[in-house]
Amino acid sequence: MFNKVLVVEDSKAFRKFLDAQLRQAGFHAVFAESIAEANAIIARDNNFLCAVLDYCLPDGTDGEIIDIVLSHHIKSVVLTAHFSQTIRDKVLSKGVIDYLLKDSAASVSYLVPLLQRLQANTHHKAMVVDDSTMIRRHLVNLLERQNLSVIQAENGCEAISLLAEHPDVTLIITDNDMPKKDGITMTREIRRMYSRNQIAILGLSGSSDNSMTAQYLKAGANDFLYKPFNQEEFYCRIHHMLNMKDTSDKLYKMANQDTLTGLWNRRYFFNQQCDKGCQHRNIAMMDIDFFKKVNDTYGHDGGDAVLIHVSRLIQARFEDAVVARFGGEEFCIQACGAFSHFQQRLEQLRVDIEALCIPYLDNTINVTMSIGAVSGAAQSHAIDDMLRTADDHLYYAKEHGRNQVVAHAL
Ligand code: GH3
Ligand code: MG
Ligand code: MG
Repeated sequence: MFNKVLVVEDSKAFRKFLDAQLRQAGFHAVFAESIAEANAIIARDNNFLCAVLDYCLPDGTDGEIIDIVLSHHIKSVVLTAHFSQTIRDKVLSKGVIDYLLKDSAASVSYLVPLLQRLQANTHHKAMVVDDSTMIRRHLVNLLERQNLSVIQAENGCEAISLLAEHPDVTLIITDNDMPKKDGITMTREIRRMYSRNQIAILGLSGSSDNSMTAQYLKAGANDFLYKPFNQEEFYCRIHHMLNMKDTSDKLYKMANQDTLTGLWNRRYFFNQQCDKGCQHRNIAMMDIDFFKKVNDTYGHDGGDAVLIHVSRLIQARFEDAVVARFGGEEFCIQACGAFSHFQQRLEQLRVDIEALCIPYLDNTINVTMSIGAVSGAAQSHAIDDMLRTADDHLYYAKEHGRNQVVAHAL
Protein backbone atom coordinates (compact mmCIF):
# COMPACT_ATOMS: atom_id res chain seq x y z
CA MET A 1 0.00 0.00 0.00
CA PHE A 2 1.09 3.56 -0.72
CA ASN A 3 2.54 4.68 2.64
CA LYS A 4 5.24 7.31 2.08
CA VAL A 5 4.81 10.56 3.99
CA LEU A 6 6.94 13.68 3.61
CA VAL A 7 7.52 15.47 6.94
CA VAL A 8 9.00 18.99 6.87
CA GLU A 9 9.78 19.95 10.46
CA ASP A 10 12.77 21.74 12.02
CA SER A 11 12.34 20.56 15.59
CA LYS A 12 14.39 17.42 16.16
CA ALA A 13 12.28 16.33 19.13
CA PHE A 14 9.07 16.68 17.15
CA ARG A 15 10.53 14.81 14.18
CA LYS A 16 11.44 11.97 16.53
CA PHE A 17 7.95 11.93 17.98
CA LEU A 18 6.32 11.88 14.53
CA ASP A 19 8.71 9.22 13.31
CA ALA A 20 7.68 6.89 16.15
CA GLN A 21 3.96 7.57 15.61
CA LEU A 22 4.12 7.07 11.84
CA ARG A 23 6.37 4.04 11.94
CA GLN A 24 4.15 2.29 14.46
CA ALA A 25 1.18 2.79 12.14
CA GLY A 26 3.07 1.34 9.16
CA PHE A 27 3.93 4.60 7.38
CA HIS A 28 7.31 5.41 5.95
CA ALA A 29 8.33 8.98 6.80
CA VAL A 30 10.84 10.98 4.74
CA PHE A 31 12.16 13.94 6.75
CA ALA A 32 13.27 17.44 5.76
CA GLU A 33 14.36 20.12 8.24
CA SER A 34 13.93 23.12 5.96
CA ILE A 35 12.34 24.35 2.73
CA ALA A 36 15.67 23.90 0.95
CA GLU A 37 15.85 20.26 2.01
CA ALA A 38 12.22 19.66 1.11
CA ASN A 39 12.81 21.10 -2.35
CA ALA A 40 15.76 18.76 -2.88
CA ILE A 41 13.68 15.73 -1.82
CA ILE A 42 10.71 16.68 -4.03
CA ALA A 43 13.04 17.22 -7.00
CA ARG A 44 14.08 13.58 -6.68
CA ASP A 45 10.67 12.12 -5.89
CA ASN A 46 7.26 13.74 -5.34
CA ASN A 47 5.25 10.57 -4.99
CA PHE A 48 3.89 10.90 -1.43
CA LEU A 49 0.60 9.86 0.14
CA CYS A 50 0.68 13.18 1.99
CA ALA A 51 3.01 15.84 3.37
CA VAL A 52 3.03 16.99 6.99
CA LEU A 53 4.29 20.58 7.07
CA ASP A 54 5.47 22.76 9.90
CA TYR A 55 4.03 26.25 9.35
CA CYS A 56 7.13 27.98 10.65
CA LEU A 57 10.53 26.87 9.29
CA PRO A 58 13.98 28.54 9.54
CA ASP A 59 13.98 29.50 5.85
CA GLY A 60 10.28 30.45 5.67
CA THR A 61 8.44 31.48 8.83
CA ASP A 62 5.04 32.30 7.38
CA GLY A 63 3.76 29.09 5.76
CA GLU A 64 5.82 29.44 2.52
CA ILE A 65 6.39 25.66 2.49
CA ILE A 66 2.65 25.08 1.98
CA ASP A 67 2.51 26.80 -1.44
CA ILE A 68 5.68 25.06 -2.54
CA VAL A 69 4.46 21.57 -1.65
CA LEU A 70 0.94 22.17 -3.00
CA SER A 71 2.41 23.42 -6.30
CA HIS A 72 3.76 19.86 -6.72
CA HIS A 73 0.21 18.49 -6.17
CA ILE A 74 1.17 16.79 -2.93
CA LYS A 75 -1.70 16.61 -0.43
CA SER A 76 -0.76 18.46 2.74
CA VAL A 77 -1.55 18.64 6.42
CA VAL A 78 -0.18 21.66 8.32
CA LEU A 79 1.21 21.72 11.86
CA THR A 80 0.97 25.00 13.69
CA ALA A 81 2.32 25.92 17.11
CA HIS A 82 -0.51 28.33 17.94
CA PHE A 83 -4.14 28.52 16.98
CA SER A 84 -5.37 31.74 15.43
CA GLN A 85 -8.43 32.26 13.28
CA THR A 86 -6.30 34.13 10.74
CA ILE A 87 -3.76 31.34 10.32
CA ARG A 88 -6.52 28.72 10.18
CA ASP A 89 -8.41 30.57 7.42
CA LYS A 90 -5.21 31.30 5.53
CA VAL A 91 -4.03 27.69 5.67
CA LEU A 92 -7.36 26.12 4.73
CA SER A 93 -7.95 28.55 1.85
CA LYS A 94 -4.69 27.39 0.26
CA GLY A 95 -6.18 23.93 -0.24
CA VAL A 96 -4.61 21.84 2.50
CA ILE A 97 -6.51 18.86 3.88
CA ASP A 98 -6.32 19.90 7.50
CA TYR A 99 -4.23 21.63 10.16
CA LEU A 100 -3.17 20.28 13.54
CA LEU A 101 -2.00 22.05 16.67
CA LYS A 102 1.45 21.00 17.76
CA ASP A 103 0.93 21.87 21.40
CA SER A 104 -1.84 19.35 21.90
CA ALA A 105 -1.25 15.59 22.02
CA ALA A 106 -4.91 15.03 21.17
CA SER A 107 -4.55 17.04 18.00
CA VAL A 108 -1.41 15.23 16.85
CA SER A 109 -2.97 11.84 17.60
CA TYR A 110 -5.50 12.78 14.93
CA LEU A 111 -2.76 12.65 12.27
CA VAL A 112 -2.42 8.86 11.96
CA PRO A 113 -6.18 8.19 11.51
CA LEU A 114 -6.22 11.02 8.97
CA LEU A 115 -3.43 9.38 6.93
CA GLN A 116 -5.08 5.97 7.24
CA ARG A 117 -8.29 7.52 5.94
CA LEU A 118 -6.42 8.96 2.94
CA GLN A 119 -5.08 5.50 2.17
CA ALA A 120 -8.44 3.77 2.55
CA ASN A 121 -10.23 6.42 0.47
CA THR A 122 -8.59 5.10 -2.69
CA HIS A 123 -11.03 2.17 -2.40
CA HIS A 124 -14.06 4.45 -2.41
CA LYS A 125 -15.95 6.19 -5.18
CA ALA A 126 -18.17 9.18 -4.40
CA MET A 127 -21.03 10.72 -6.37
CA VAL A 128 -21.85 14.42 -6.01
CA VAL A 129 -25.47 15.36 -6.81
CA ASP A 130 -26.23 19.08 -7.17
CA ASP A 131 -27.81 21.24 -9.88
CA SER A 132 -25.28 24.04 -9.32
CA THR A 133 -22.11 23.54 -11.34
CA MET A 134 -20.19 25.78 -8.97
CA ILE A 135 -21.16 23.83 -5.84
CA ARG A 136 -20.49 20.53 -7.60
CA ARG A 137 -17.03 21.74 -8.55
CA HIS A 138 -16.34 22.81 -4.96
CA LEU A 139 -17.50 19.45 -3.55
CA VAL A 140 -15.57 17.45 -6.15
CA ASN A 141 -12.48 19.44 -5.30
CA LEU A 142 -12.88 18.77 -1.55
CA LEU A 143 -13.45 15.04 -2.12
CA GLU A 144 -10.63 14.56 -4.64
CA ARG A 145 -8.27 16.21 -2.20
CA GLN A 146 -9.12 13.27 0.09
CA ASN A 147 -8.09 10.68 -2.53
CA LEU A 148 -11.68 9.81 -3.41
CA SER A 149 -12.61 9.30 -7.06
CA VAL A 150 -15.73 11.30 -7.87
CA ILE A 151 -18.55 11.24 -10.41
CA GLN A 152 -21.25 13.92 -10.76
CA ALA A 153 -24.99 14.15 -11.39
CA GLU A 154 -27.19 17.24 -11.84
CA ASN A 155 -30.31 15.90 -10.17
CA GLY A 156 -31.83 12.87 -8.42
CA CYS A 157 -32.97 11.22 -11.67
CA GLU A 158 -29.56 11.41 -13.27
CA ALA A 159 -27.97 10.17 -10.02
CA ILE A 160 -30.13 7.03 -9.93
CA SER A 161 -29.37 6.09 -13.53
CA LEU A 162 -25.66 6.87 -13.03
CA LEU A 163 -25.65 4.61 -9.97
CA ALA A 164 -26.78 1.70 -12.14
CA GLU A 165 -23.71 2.26 -14.35
CA HIS A 166 -21.38 2.68 -11.35
CA PRO A 167 -22.28 0.00 -8.80
CA ASP A 168 -18.96 0.67 -7.05
CA VAL A 169 -20.16 4.04 -5.68
CA THR A 170 -19.96 3.87 -1.87
CA LEU A 171 -20.68 7.49 -0.92
CA ILE A 172 -23.24 10.04 -2.16
CA ILE A 173 -23.25 13.75 -1.30
CA THR A 174 -26.53 15.27 -2.37
CA ASP A 175 -28.31 18.60 -2.40
CA ASN A 176 -32.06 18.59 -1.78
CA ASP A 177 -33.58 21.32 -3.93
CA MET A 178 -32.99 20.18 -7.53
CA PRO A 179 -35.11 19.95 -10.70
CA LYS A 180 -36.66 16.59 -11.76
CA LYS A 181 -35.99 14.82 -8.44
CA ASP A 182 -35.05 16.31 -5.05
CA GLY A 183 -32.40 14.82 -2.77
CA ILE A 184 -34.79 13.48 -0.12
CA THR A 185 -36.94 11.60 -2.70
CA MET A 186 -33.78 10.29 -4.34
CA THR A 187 -32.43 9.09 -0.96
CA ARG A 188 -35.70 7.23 -0.26
CA GLU A 189 -35.51 5.52 -3.68
CA ILE A 190 -31.85 4.56 -3.30
CA ARG A 191 -32.61 3.02 0.11
CA ARG A 192 -35.02 0.57 -1.53
CA MET A 193 -31.99 -0.87 -3.36
CA TYR A 194 -28.99 -0.22 -1.11
CA SER A 195 -28.65 -0.25 2.69
CA ARG A 196 -26.89 2.41 4.78
CA ASN A 197 -23.90 0.07 4.98
CA GLN A 198 -23.69 -0.40 1.24
CA ILE A 199 -23.90 3.27 0.21
CA ALA A 200 -23.44 6.11 2.69
CA ILE A 201 -25.48 9.23 1.91
CA LEU A 202 -24.73 12.73 3.19
CA GLY A 203 -27.64 15.11 2.63
CA LEU A 204 -27.03 18.82 2.11
CA SER A 205 -29.48 21.69 2.03
CA GLY A 206 -29.36 25.45 1.90
CA SER A 207 -32.96 25.70 3.10
CA SER A 208 -33.87 27.51 6.31
CA ASP A 209 -36.38 24.78 7.15
CA ASN A 210 -35.18 23.33 10.47
CA SER A 211 -36.89 19.98 9.86
CA MET A 212 -34.45 19.15 7.03
CA THR A 213 -32.18 16.98 9.20
CA ALA A 214 -35.08 14.80 10.33
CA GLN A 215 -36.50 14.55 6.81
CA TYR A 216 -33.18 13.41 5.37
CA LEU A 217 -32.44 10.94 8.16
CA LYS A 218 -35.94 9.45 7.96
CA ALA A 219 -35.52 9.05 4.20
CA GLY A 220 -32.42 6.96 4.93
CA ALA A 221 -29.49 9.41 4.80
CA ASN A 222 -26.55 8.54 7.06
CA ASP A 223 -25.94 12.19 7.93
CA PHE A 224 -26.89 15.76 7.07
CA LEU A 225 -25.26 19.20 6.81
CA TYR A 226 -26.74 22.67 6.29
CA LYS A 227 -25.06 24.79 3.59
CA PRO A 228 -22.85 26.71 3.79
CA PHE A 229 -20.63 24.40 5.83
CA ASN A 230 -16.97 24.70 6.65
CA GLN A 231 -14.38 22.31 5.25
CA GLU A 232 -13.42 20.81 8.60
CA GLU A 233 -16.97 19.91 9.49
CA PHE A 234 -17.53 18.41 6.02
CA TYR A 235 -14.39 16.28 6.30
CA CYS A 236 -15.26 15.12 9.82
CA ARG A 237 -18.68 13.90 8.62
CA ILE A 238 -17.21 12.20 5.53
CA HIS A 239 -14.51 10.51 7.61
CA HIS A 240 -17.02 9.32 10.16
CA MET A 241 -19.32 7.88 7.47
CA LEU A 242 -16.51 6.11 5.60
CA ASN A 243 -15.00 4.75 8.85
CA MET A 244 -18.40 3.28 9.70
CA LYS A 245 -18.72 1.78 6.23
CA ASP A 246 -15.23 0.23 6.32
CA THR A 247 -15.89 -1.23 9.78
CA SER A 248 -19.18 -2.69 8.67
CA ASP A 249 -17.57 -4.18 5.53
CA LYS A 250 -14.86 -5.70 7.72
CA LEU A 251 -17.42 -7.22 10.09
CA TYR A 252 -19.37 -8.60 7.13
CA LYS A 253 -16.25 -10.31 5.83
CA MET A 254 -15.39 -11.67 9.27
CA ALA A 255 -18.87 -13.12 9.60
CA ASN A 256 -19.00 -14.58 6.08
CA GLN A 257 -15.46 -15.46 5.07
CA ASP A 258 -13.17 -18.28 6.05
CA THR A 259 -10.01 -16.75 7.52
CA LEU A 260 -7.57 -19.46 6.37
CA THR A 261 -8.54 -19.61 2.69
CA GLY A 262 -10.46 -16.36 2.11
CA LEU A 263 -13.33 -18.38 0.62
CA TRP A 264 -16.92 -17.73 1.66
CA ASN A 265 -18.19 -19.77 4.60
CA ARG A 266 -21.26 -21.94 5.06
CA ARG A 267 -23.40 -19.08 6.43
CA TYR A 268 -22.79 -16.95 3.32
CA PHE A 269 -23.37 -19.90 0.99
CA PHE A 270 -26.88 -20.50 2.31
CA ASN A 271 -27.85 -16.85 1.93
CA GLN A 272 -26.67 -16.78 -1.66
CA GLN A 273 -29.28 -17.13 -4.36
CA CYS A 274 -28.58 -16.23 -7.96
CA ASP A 275 -30.39 -12.96 -8.67
CA LYS A 276 -30.08 -13.15 -12.46
CA GLY A 277 -33.29 -15.20 -12.76
CA CYS A 278 -31.47 -18.41 -13.73
CA GLN A 279 -33.72 -21.45 -14.05
CA HIS A 280 -31.02 -23.94 -13.25
CA ARG A 281 -28.86 -24.46 -10.18
CA ASN A 282 -25.80 -26.71 -9.99
CA ILE A 283 -24.24 -27.76 -6.71
CA ALA A 284 -20.99 -29.60 -6.09
CA MET A 285 -19.77 -30.94 -2.75
CA MET A 286 -16.12 -31.89 -2.64
CA ASP A 287 -13.71 -33.31 -0.13
CA ILE A 288 -9.94 -33.82 -0.26
CA ASP A 289 -9.02 -37.52 -0.20
CA PHE A 290 -7.05 -38.92 2.74
CA PHE A 291 -6.42 -35.44 4.11
CA LYS A 292 -5.77 -36.83 7.57
CA LYS A 293 -2.70 -38.50 6.12
CA VAL A 294 -1.41 -35.10 4.90
CA ASN A 295 -1.70 -33.76 8.45
CA ASP A 296 -0.09 -36.90 9.88
CA THR A 297 2.82 -36.71 7.44
CA TYR A 298 3.51 -32.97 7.18
CA GLY A 299 1.85 -31.59 10.31
CA HIS A 300 -1.06 -29.19 10.61
CA ASP A 301 0.80 -26.38 8.82
CA GLY A 302 1.41 -28.63 5.83
CA GLY A 303 -2.32 -29.43 5.81
CA ASP A 304 -3.12 -25.71 5.91
CA ALA A 305 -0.82 -25.08 2.94
CA VAL A 306 -2.78 -27.71 0.99
CA LEU A 307 -6.11 -26.11 1.93
CA ILE A 308 -4.87 -22.69 0.77
CA HIS A 309 -3.55 -23.95 -2.60
CA VAL A 310 -6.58 -26.11 -3.33
CA SER A 311 -8.93 -23.21 -2.42
CA ARG A 312 -7.11 -20.87 -4.81
CA LEU A 313 -7.41 -23.37 -7.62
CA ILE A 314 -11.14 -23.96 -7.07
CA GLN A 315 -11.75 -20.20 -6.92
CA ALA A 316 -9.74 -19.61 -10.10
CA ARG A 317 -11.60 -22.34 -12.02
CA PHE A 318 -15.02 -21.14 -10.77
CA GLU A 319 -14.65 -17.37 -10.71
CA ASP A 320 -18.27 -16.85 -11.74
CA ALA A 321 -19.68 -19.15 -9.02
CA VAL A 322 -20.11 -19.05 -5.24
CA VAL A 323 -17.28 -21.10 -3.77
CA ALA A 324 -17.33 -21.84 -0.04
CA ARG A 325 -15.28 -23.79 2.46
CA PHE A 326 -17.82 -25.77 4.41
CA GLY A 327 -15.40 -26.83 7.13
CA GLY A 328 -12.24 -28.97 7.36
CA GLU A 329 -11.25 -30.07 3.84
CA GLU A 330 -14.78 -29.81 2.46
CA PHE A 331 -15.74 -27.30 -0.21
CA CYS A 332 -18.92 -26.44 -2.03
CA ILE A 333 -19.70 -24.74 -5.34
CA GLN A 334 -22.97 -23.20 -6.42
CA ALA A 335 -23.20 -22.20 -10.10
CA CYS A 336 -25.78 -21.46 -12.78
CA GLY A 337 -25.85 -22.79 -16.35
CA ALA A 338 -26.05 -26.13 -18.14
CA PHE A 339 -25.30 -29.19 -15.99
CA SER A 340 -23.21 -30.87 -18.71
CA HIS A 341 -20.89 -27.86 -18.83
CA PHE A 342 -20.69 -27.80 -15.02
CA GLN A 343 -19.70 -31.49 -15.02
CA GLN A 344 -16.96 -30.86 -17.60
CA ARG A 345 -15.56 -28.04 -15.50
CA LEU A 346 -15.60 -30.22 -12.37
CA GLU A 347 -13.77 -33.00 -14.20
CA GLN A 348 -11.15 -30.47 -15.33
CA LEU A 349 -10.84 -29.20 -11.75
CA ARG A 350 -10.35 -32.79 -10.50
CA VAL A 351 -7.57 -33.33 -13.07
CA ASP A 352 -5.93 -29.99 -12.17
CA ILE A 353 -5.99 -30.77 -8.44
CA GLU A 354 -4.42 -34.17 -9.11
CA ALA A 355 -1.63 -32.42 -11.06
CA LEU A 356 -1.14 -29.67 -8.46
CA CYS A 357 2.29 -29.73 -6.79
CA ILE A 358 2.01 -27.92 -3.46
CA PRO A 359 5.34 -26.69 -2.11
CA TYR A 360 5.77 -27.10 1.63
CA LEU A 361 9.15 -26.62 3.29
CA ASP A 362 11.42 -28.93 1.28
CA ASN A 363 8.58 -31.16 0.11
CA THR A 364 5.99 -31.24 -2.61
CA ILE A 365 2.55 -32.38 -1.52
CA ASN A 366 0.05 -33.97 -3.92
CA VAL A 367 -3.62 -34.58 -3.21
CA THR A 368 -6.76 -35.72 -5.00
CA MET A 369 -10.38 -34.67 -4.61
CA SER A 370 -13.68 -36.55 -4.64
CA ILE A 371 -16.64 -34.61 -5.99
CA GLY A 372 -20.41 -35.14 -5.84
CA ALA A 373 -22.60 -32.94 -8.03
CA VAL A 374 -26.27 -32.36 -8.59
CA SER A 375 -28.43 -30.04 -10.63
CA GLY A 376 -32.07 -29.02 -10.46
CA ALA A 377 -34.63 -26.36 -11.26
CA ALA A 378 -33.91 -23.43 -8.96
CA GLN A 379 -37.66 -22.93 -8.35
CA SER A 380 -38.53 -26.42 -7.19
CA HIS A 381 -35.46 -27.61 -5.24
CA ALA A 382 -34.35 -26.11 -1.94
CA ILE A 383 -30.61 -25.63 -1.46
CA ASP A 384 -30.41 -27.98 1.54
CA ASP A 385 -32.09 -30.82 -0.41
CA MET A 386 -29.66 -30.36 -3.26
CA LEU A 387 -26.72 -30.28 -0.85
CA ARG A 388 -27.87 -33.52 0.74
CA THR A 389 -28.05 -35.22 -2.66
CA ALA A 390 -24.64 -33.82 -3.69
CA ASP A 391 -23.28 -35.18 -0.41
CA ASP A 392 -24.74 -38.63 -1.20
CA HIS A 393 -22.97 -38.50 -4.56
CA LEU A 394 -19.75 -37.48 -2.84
CA TYR A 395 -20.09 -40.42 -0.44
CA TYR A 396 -20.57 -42.72 -3.43
CA ALA A 397 -17.39 -41.29 -5.04
CA LYS A 398 -15.47 -41.94 -1.80
CA GLU A 399 -16.78 -45.50 -1.59
CA HIS A 400 -15.89 -46.24 -5.21
CA GLY A 401 -12.21 -45.34 -5.28
CA ARG A 402 -12.09 -41.56 -4.58
CA ASN A 403 -10.50 -39.04 -7.02
CA GLN A 404 -13.61 -38.93 -9.22
CA VAL A 405 -16.71 -36.86 -10.05
CA VAL A 406 -20.12 -38.44 -9.45
CA ALA A 407 -22.90 -36.35 -10.94
CA HIS A 408 -26.64 -36.86 -11.51
CA ALA A 409 -29.40 -34.35 -12.12
CA LEU A 410 -32.41 -34.37 -9.80
P1 GH3 B 1 -11.47 -39.13 3.18
O1 GH3 B 1 -10.70 -39.42 1.96
O2 GH3 B 1 -12.41 -40.19 3.53
O3 GH3 B 1 -12.12 -37.80 3.11
O4 GH3 B 1 -10.42 -39.10 4.38
P2 GH3 B 1 -9.85 -37.83 5.13
O5 GH3 B 1 -8.64 -38.25 5.90
O6 GH3 B 1 -9.64 -36.74 4.15
O7 GH3 B 1 -11.06 -37.40 6.01
P3 GH3 B 1 -11.29 -37.13 7.53
O8 GH3 B 1 -12.62 -36.44 7.60
O9 GH3 B 1 -11.15 -38.42 8.33
O10 GH3 B 1 -10.16 -36.16 8.01
C1 GH3 B 1 -10.22 -34.80 7.80
C2 GH3 B 1 -9.11 -34.16 8.60
O11 GH3 B 1 -9.03 -32.77 8.32
C3 GH3 B 1 -9.31 -34.26 10.09
C4 GH3 B 1 -8.97 -32.89 10.63
O12 GH3 B 1 -8.01 -32.93 11.64
C5 GH3 B 1 -8.41 -32.15 9.44
N1 GH3 B 1 -8.72 -30.74 9.44
C6 GH3 B 1 -9.91 -30.11 9.63
N2 GH3 B 1 -9.77 -28.79 9.52
C7 GH3 B 1 -8.47 -28.53 9.29
C8 GH3 B 1 -7.70 -27.33 9.11
O13 GH3 B 1 -8.19 -26.19 9.13
N3 GH3 B 1 -6.34 -27.46 8.89
C9 GH3 B 1 -5.77 -28.69 8.85
N4 GH3 B 1 -4.47 -28.75 8.63
N5 GH3 B 1 -6.46 -29.84 9.04
C10 GH3 B 1 -7.78 -29.77 9.25
MG1 MG C 1 -11.31 -35.94 3.17
MG1 MG D 1 -13.82 -34.88 5.55
